[in-house]
Amino acid sequence: MKSLAMTAISLSMAASAFAQNEKSETGLQIARNGSQASAKGSADYFTGTVRVDPLFPKPNGPTHATGSYVTFEPGARTAWHTHPVGQTLVVTAGAGRVQRWGDPVQEIRPGDVVWIPPGQKHWHGAAPTTAMTHMAITELSDGKAVDWLEKVNDTQYGSQP
Ligand code: MN
Repeated sequence: MKSLAMTAISLSMAASAFAQNEKSETGLQIARNGSQASAKGSADYFTGTVRVDPLFPKPNGPTHATGSYVTFEPGARTAWHTHPVGQTLVVTAGAGRVQRWGDPVQEIRPGDVVWIPPGQKHWHGAAPTTAMTHMAITELSDGKAVDWLEKVNDTQYGSQP
């Protein structure tokens, strides 16, 4: 039977090993909630108010994937853009829109998973009166995730009364 003192020592060792593991090059990395600052989406690339919450902003080891939550206030959207090796969007909240160049605007809702093929011109954003959050998973090609194009005007967005 373990004494109370032994139990205390075991718990203390477990705690220190866990802390070391988080810092190790070869161990697991846990980016704690609240440790990565939110950022405002640049007015150069977005229309309206957009918040980017980084999840894994740099690829780990041999991977090429980056990920972030992006939250669009009502009416907010990206500019037209392409991704060199594509992008996956997982809608997590609200109501949104996505459009491929030349196609009609499509509604997207929580639980929807959108695949944007490499080089495909498109935009994504919120519905006119409802915010939308999606997780964006984007792989880098030669260090690049996106090529920005012109803004999505109100007629294209469809928010005109
Ligand atoms: Mn995109």
